[in-house]
Amino acid sequence: MTGILRTGLERLLIVAAHGDDETLGAGGTIAKLTEAGVEVGLCVLTNDDSARSIAGMDVTDRTACIQAAASILGIKRVRINGYGDSRLDVVGQLELNRVVEREVRDFEPDMLFTTSMAELSVDHQLVSRAARIAGRPTRSSVREIRCFEVRSATDCAEASGVVPTFRPNCWEILDEPHLERKIEALRAYGKEVERWPNPRSERGVRALAEYRGSQIGADLAEAFELVRLVL
Ligand SMILES: [Zn+2]
Repeated sequence: MTGILRTGLERLLIVAAHGDDETLGAGGTIAKLTEAGVEVGLCVLTNDDSARSIAGMDVTDRTACIQAAASILGIKRVRINGYGDSRLDVVGQLELNRVVEREVRDFEPDMLFTTSMAELSVDHQLVSRAARIAGRPTRSSVREIRCFEVRSATDCAEASGVVPTFRPNCWEILDEPHLERKIEALRAYGKEVERWPNPRSERGVRALAEYRGSQIGADLAEAFELVRLVL
């Protein structure tokens, strides 16, 4: 582990609305951190893709995909809740807060990653808020909170006039093997992997990593909004 910001970092908790958010948003960073010995936990609030039923597609349980992707990324602790996709507003903020607070209390993470508030997805916004509440500085072990971007959700927000848009101020440099593990984890989601030029295609994931890397003079990177850092 290199870098002063990593000193003392032992546990990272990822809080996501849907299985695949964690991989698209931070898969390379997760691979990098687990390789460096950081214990990573994943808390996913939904376990289906019922939003697809609206489009007349089959609904499937994503539990096995989430576990397979987590295993590829080196995540040991996976907690999947059974709420319905695109229905977290019905569940309500208070209940989501309680689920994430319980997770933070049990796992005691130093660091927390979640979705951004700059999203059109209500699920992503509710989960982002729940994670920030659960990780508030005076009531938790959390010293650092970062939000990741989930293409195409953040793209969709940008193209729909949602303000504010995703504005990264923190970059994690990746090596090629980290990106390869991210793409391998994405493949575990099967039909979630789209074809180019969809941003959720393998080529789209690589293109984003190259773009984020180029912003900071590196070959590959993932970008985050740094919400809080206590040193
Ligand atoms: Zn999502």
